[in-house]
Amino acid sequence: MNKNLLKDIDRVWHPYVQMEAYKEKPTMIVEADGIYVKDIRGKTYIDGISSLWNVCLGHNNKKVINSITEQLNSLQYFSLYGYTNQPSVELSLMISDITDNRYKRFFFTNSGSEAADSAIKIIRQYFKNKGEANRTKIVSLEKSFHGVTYGAISAGGIPIDSQQYKPVLSGFIKIPPPYCFRCYYNKKYPECNLACGNKLEEVIIQENPETVAAFMAEPILGAGGIIIPPKGYFTRLKEICDKYGVKLIIDEVSTGFGRLGTGLGIDNWNVKPQIFIGAKGISSGYLPLGVVGVEEDIYEAFLGDKKQLNHGFTTSGHPVSCKAGIATLRVIKEENLIKKVKDKEVFFRKQLQQLMNISIVKDIRGMGLMWGIELIDKYDVATLTYEIAKRKGLITFITDASNVIALFPPFITTEEQLVRIKEVMEASLKLAEER
Ligand code: PLP
Repeated sequence: MNKNLLKDIDRVWHPYVQMEAYKEKPTMIVEADGIYVKDIRGKTYIDGISSLWNVCLGHNNKKVINSITEQLNSLQYFSLYGYTNQPSVELSLMISDITDNRYKRFFFTNSGSEAADSAIKIIRQYFKNKGEANRTKIVSLEKSFHGVTYGAISAGGIPIDSQQYKPVLSGFIKIPPPYCFRCYYNKKYPECNLACGNKLEEVIIQENPETVAAFMAEPILGAGGIIIPPKGYFTRLKEICDKYGVKLIIDEVSTGFGRLGTGLGIDNWNVKPQIFIGAKGISSGYLPLGVVGVEEDIYEAFLGDKKQLNHGFTTSGHPVSCKAGIATLRVIKEENLIKKVKDKEVFFRKQLQQLMNISIVKDIRGMGLMWGIELIDKYDVATLTYEIAKRKGLITFITDASNVIALFPPFITTEEQLVRIKEVMEASLKLAEER
């Protein structure tokens, strides 16, 4: 084995990976360009998941690289504690712009998990500052994923993430997800009358509305299996939240900044949360960056003596990361990528639907450039498909909670390349079907 790979096995502890199995087949990526990445052995792969739905612009974008370099040549770092820097200001204005000026106040983090924890702390302190200190509970969805820090796993609904790390935080309550393909109530939409959404009201009443602070959800549950809430779902949930004074926090870490063909993913449901969190695509993964955006009423509750937000990271608003964010949002705007992603949704849907006639494929669903292929509930079939596709030069992802293969191609993927992704998936699924 290559000596760099041997050193990797010897020293690096990889996230979410069984190292015993990993050491048999390590893959070191050494170069990347556009939608392609190359490993140390010279093999090229299509990055069918934008490297964990992160590198939305594709790899080696010179505009982003040049902006980062330019920033490094002026100010490398200075903290936001009592000082400011130009990139964090400019990026805030750009996020306001991409969210139709609904949000004007932004708190920066380094990751999605930190953004989730920050939002939870912000909403708890918000109610404390408003004199409603009992409003601390957070309701969220089973199968949801909000990251790996303690607040995030407490809100998250993927059992393995929290069970292993008990005790998690108290005051987190779960309701069933809007998983129409496997409805928890064995009902069909729309006759179900959004039973899963109505559960929120039941839970709020049960818990006592004066103790519930927020409902938190992803527009599309990503790691939970690309679960897409039906039309009307978020409108209903927002109505319930408003009725009981509960705030809506939307996790846009995998869906925001164009991934669903809209500024924020939740725009597809025409609902306006009081808080959103973002990360990943905001800087196209070129540097770590996360954000919490809040409506004015939330921000204003922190003004005044003894009300300040006692929370922040050394690297909150890091100028070089913010500069990566500025360059990313600029490219998205200049190249009209949000509209292009919406157009590609239509094209990719038609392509992927051709896979429905493969017997191990049970459902295909997606929006924008976020897609899931749900396979039969048989142990291993997803892993096998993943491995065959990788051998054939396509990197995919198996979602944690289900038998779903996820595809998140970069926004710049051409129609020809989308066809190629479909072809490799088709060949891989057929081989997995035969086993
Ligand atoms: N929220 C969602 C919806 C995510 O998909 C992720 C990561 O995949 C996170 C939060 C956590 O983000 P990070 O890995 O940057 O901490």
